[in-house]
Amino acid sequence: MKPIALVTGSSRGIGRAIALRLAEDGYPIAVNYPPIEEEPTQVVEEIKAKGVECKAFVADVSDSEQVSAMFKAIKEHFGQPVGVLVNNAGITRDTLLMRLKESDWDMVLGINLKGTYLCTKAAIRDMLKTGWGRVISVSSVVGTVIGNPGQTNYAASKAGVKGFTMSLANEVGQKGVTVNAVAPGFIETEMTAKLPEEVKNRMLEATALKRFGKPEDIAEVVAFLASEKAGYITGQLIVVDGGLSV
Ligand code: NAP
Repeated sequence: MKPIALVTGSSRGIGRAIALRLAEDGYPIAVNYPPIEEEPTQVVEEIKAKGVECKAFVADVSDSEQVSAMFKAIKEHFGQPVGVLVNNAGITRDTLLMRLKESDWDMVLGINLKGTYLCTKAAIRDMLKTGWGRVISVSSVVGTVIGNPGQTNYAASKAGVKGFTMSLANEVGQKGVTVNAVAPGFIETEMTAKLPEEVKNRMLEATALKRFGKPEDIAEVVAFLASEKAGYITGQLIVVDGGLSV
């Protein structure tokens, strides 16, 4: 049986595309969604239609008790632990630093960065025991390659994910676990749909390929990083931005 793949925040957007793509490669899929939302039954059915087992697990990734309970429930349901962890759940709360509320700093850092820490910590012990594992986190070009006004909180969280990735890769490499991050540019999802037209136009102009990315562009790279073919890649941040940062 293929290892279990958990994709956090996979009810929609990039996470949903990653879960569907990994299902195509035959991984049983654990979909994760936050408590405020309804169970994403449609995504689960779409994944099952690809011929793999799939179940949705509720947890706010920034809450340690909910994360522990989710990992326990996944192990009980599938009869084996998570082998491929995709830390995808993420949010934005954009505004200039002068107006940035402490609560919006804490919320963005809590979900984007602490969530990555909590889920990875919950997954890593079993990966080390098994002698195989993949941790793939969704960072961003913002914070790792470029800055963006109005996103100090978001950029700090995504830069944190890069540092976390490089450091953990060194801790667990000798046990057969690779740790990488993907840095998307501008990808068409609900997260970017709410941006003003003027910002979108500026992003499009700056993107070498003169088109926005699709969630599937990110999913393809995640699937490669999860595969055996990427077994000699670790500690890396792979930029998938259509040339936005160049
Ligand atoms: P999205 O459409 O807003 O989806 C975000 C997902 O995260 C949703 O499934 C959401 O669940 C989930 N989520 C939010 N808070 C959560 C929590 N506390 N616990 C568990 N799940 C939670 O965003 P996206 O564009 O697909 O972004 C996915 C990832 O890519 C994020 O980490 C984002 O920072 C990163 N990224 C995106 C872009 C881009 O251009 N779109 C660029 C660079 C990086 P609900 O739908 O149920 O609320």
